[in-house]
Amino acid sequence: MATISESRSKLDVSNLRAEFPALEQEVHPGVALRYFDSAATALKPRAVIQAVNEYLSSYSANVHRGLHVLSERATAAFEEAREKVARHLGVTDAAQIIFTKGTTESVNLVARSWGRLALQPGDAIVLSELEHHANLVPWQMIARERGATLRYVDLTEDLEWDLDSYDRLLADGRVKMVAVTGMSNVTGGRPPVEEIIRRAQAAGARTLLDGAQSLAHDRLDAARLGVDFVAFSGHKVFGPTGIGVLYGKRKLLEAMEPILGGGNMVLRVTREGAEWNDLPDKFEGGTQPIAEVIGLGAAIDFLESLDADAVARHERRLLTHAHEVLGAIDGMRILGTSNLERKGPILGFTLEGAHPHDLSQLLDRFGVAIRAGHHCAMPLHDRIGIPASARASLALYNTTEEVDHLARSLEKIRTMLRRR
Ligand code: PMP
Repeated sequence: MATISESRSKLDVSNLRAEFPALEQEVHPGVALRYFDSAATALKPRAVIQAVNEYLSSYSANVHRGLHVLSERATAAFEEAREKVARHLGVTDAAQIIFTKGTTESVNLVARSWGRLALQPGDAIVLSELEHHANLVPWQMIARERGATLRYVDLTEDLEWDLDSYDRLLADGRVKMVAVTGMSNVTGGRPPVEEIIRRAQAAGARTLLDGAQSLAHDRLDAARLGVDFVAFSGHKVFGPTGIGVLYGKRKLLEAMEPILGGGNMVLRVTREGAEWNDLPDKFEGGTQPIAEVIGLGAAIDFLESLDADAVARHERRLLTHAHEVLGAIDGMRILGTSNLERKGPILGFTLEGAHPHDLSQLLDRFGVAIRAGHHCAMPLHDRIGIPASARASLALYNTTEEVDHLARSLEKIRTMLRRR
């Protein structure tokens, strides 16, 4: 029997699903959609669609520059979205929230701008093979430019951070940056971010959290965590594509140079040079993706309207169930840790005798959307020794019935492929 506190905050999944119009469709005649690709991009709730639609249809003026009603309305909605993001991240100063195109651009901004300022030849950056290319390649680029080196933490057999090897990497005091994902987009593994940041700080290193996956599932208090930079994408937290966020500590952002020159990011321009605008505009050159920012604001409102504990419990139930039913399939290998306390609702897997791309294509016939490939995490696949994997990613709108459908469909495909 459910306890009182459990039943009081139970997530009403069918009401929640009604907020996502894309879930209502059949993808083939008579075949309903079962969406397990939210780690690639999440579906959008009505509130986000409406907010974008309203901006586009009734006040689609540019921000900051106009002194007319539509521009003032757009500016207010735009800056309100920034305030919402700041509050959501536990940040009091909204000027520390920079809008970018996505996680990729946010990490590139830090790597290039902070990297040029802070990295000297011989300095080191700590990464792990769990990282998405977006949190690897920008560091490779700046390391090459600055003569810095990359150091990789050892991963355990379960593809978790080996903290002893991390300590060894930090020991010589040359590490200037530790860049870590909050949740692997392949295994769902959650590195011990608090501990990683604490040890980085003790070693005098800066830290960047790639929140692209974790922020769709976990609440983050960036100020309490003490992390220097946080990057995430709107489209994975139920907002539009084309909008992302970089949070940074004020003194770091103030010292950093912009990487895009143009309108809005300057206070004064002469023939010879320019004076940068204040934060956050200094990093927001050119016309911003206004509809997308406003949509992100609505996505944050949507997330804030939910009971975070109830969402976490629901996702945990889904993940546990998925491990049980998928794990029972003959030839199934679920990648990463089996300690579900240390993972989010993402299942990277391989099925003996089936290429991940074939699996994905055949699952589509059953209405099931998953992803197959290297998931922009080639070093992790190299580490495991496989070229590709399949990935079923779960979100708050998924149900255990859908997970059962996924497992049944996989069983049928396995039988089909064995008969061949
Ligand atoms: N980091 C992680 C962990 C991701 O999963 C992704 C997207 N798959 C990214 C970074 C890059 O995000 P975006 O493509 O939105 O910039």
